[in-house]
Amino acid sequence: MRFDIMTLFPDMFDRVFDQSIIGRAKEKGLLELHCHQIREYTKNKQMQVDDYPYGGGMGMVMFPQPIADCFRAVCEQVGERPHLIYMSPQGKTLTQQRAIELAQMPNLCILCGHYEGVDERVLEAIVDEQISIGDYVLTGGEIPAMALVDCVSRMIPGVLADEVCFTEESHFAGLLEYPQYTRPAEWEGRAVPEILLSGHHGNIAKWRHQQSLERTYRLRPEMLETAPLTDADRAYLESLKAEEESNDDTAI
Ligand code: SAM
Repeated sequence: MRFDIMTLFPDMFDRVFDQSIIGRAKEKGLLELHCHQIREYTKNKQMQVDDYPYGGGMGMVMFPQPIADCFRAVCEQVGERPHLIYMSPQGKTLTQQRAIELAQMPNLCILCGHYEGVDERVLEAIVDEQISIGDYVLTGGEIPAMALVDCVSRMIPGVLADEVCFTEESHFAGLLEYPQYTRPAEWEGRAVPEILLSGHHGNIAKWRHQQSLERTYRLRPEMLETAPLTDADRAYLESLKAEEESNDDTAI
């Protein structure tokens, strides 16, 4: 998969994506990352990329022309028009489901805004989708773009050692992941749950699934409204609720 990132701060990406899992995936040729300096496409002598907003107000707004020309150059380099995402606090919030869908595309282009944002006309003209990483505002789209590239890349076959690495993780199947433990078996008086040392794979899988249900119920109960639950899952959640209610009665 190929990612093209249009940004005023391309150097920010090298440090992050040359390391760890994504760095190895790049070395293996599973993904390509190309950063494009929007400033190189500006037509004024001062290499300016932004100006004051019409109508007044604080901050600077990025010009449409360098962004549109940068995108034209990306399309030429890729050989086709990639799906273009603008990272924006006004977009739909990124979900694991959307990351899975985006990972099916052969190439993605990401536009990072900065300052007050980007002239609306270029967004209307070239952007296919706006994605937010949450209901808060950052100084630029670079960190959100890194989050998107990282999250989508993990869904590309071969990037993680095994598909199980992500299919059992939080959000993939609508639940939070079960708790994880490693050596030592006892740390500062806290023991790893007995069942994980039993070697009984069936019981361990059942325990982990119940822990996933319980965590989701306690930490993110709203996720259970859309999670695909079996009758056994519902019965288990009912038993948790009943236990909670009986504990409340005892407290009174
Ligand atoms: N004036 C804009 C508004 O109120 O909607 C915010 C501009 S923000 C300071 C500058 C840039 O950071 C945006 O153009 C966008 O690319 C990026 N950005 C900020 N917060 C973001 C978020 N939560 N998700 C995705 N991108 C974000």
